[in-house]
Amino acid sequence: MAVGRDAVSSWGEQATRALAGAGFRRGGARAAVIDLLDRQDCALSAVEIEDELRRHGERGVARASVYRILEELEGLRLVSRVEVGQKLARFEPSRPEGHHHHLVCHECGQVIPFEDAGLERSIMRLSRRMAFDVEQHDVVLRGACRDCAG
Ligand SMILES: [Zn+2]
Ligand SMILES: [Zn+2]
Repeated sequence: MAVGRDAVSSWGEQATRALAGAGFRRGGARAAVIDLLDRQDCALSAVEIEDELRRHGERGVARASVYRILEELEGLRLVSRVEVGQKLARFEPSRPEGHHHHLVCHECGQVIPFEDAGLERSIMRLSRRMAFDVEQHDVVLRGACRDCAG
């Protein structure tokens, strides 16, 4: 269990507190984006976030606002960015307990999450070998998914 972290509160609660602490006002758009991200296990694009908010009957949150809020959250290390190519990015909540990596298909743009204990151990070994205190890491493997290969 991470020290100094409130293990009971959800990512959404932590994000709301961190934004308030950084002096951002609690707006309807911020709350809506945080609520939506809090329900995600993996990454969404800004367009998907915008569509999803509209589908759930939130009053529309303009795409520019979605981008701005994502930048605020990224700046506070509350979301991490997954680059999927063609300058497209996806965003997901940074949760220590849901740590995973991504396969990105360069044909259809699909993003497939994966976990690999061996990979995590390799990164820790590398950290010791290089005497470098690795605080976070992300791994993106690019290629063709099952549907697009061959
Ligand atoms: Zn993910
Ligand atoms: Zn594909």
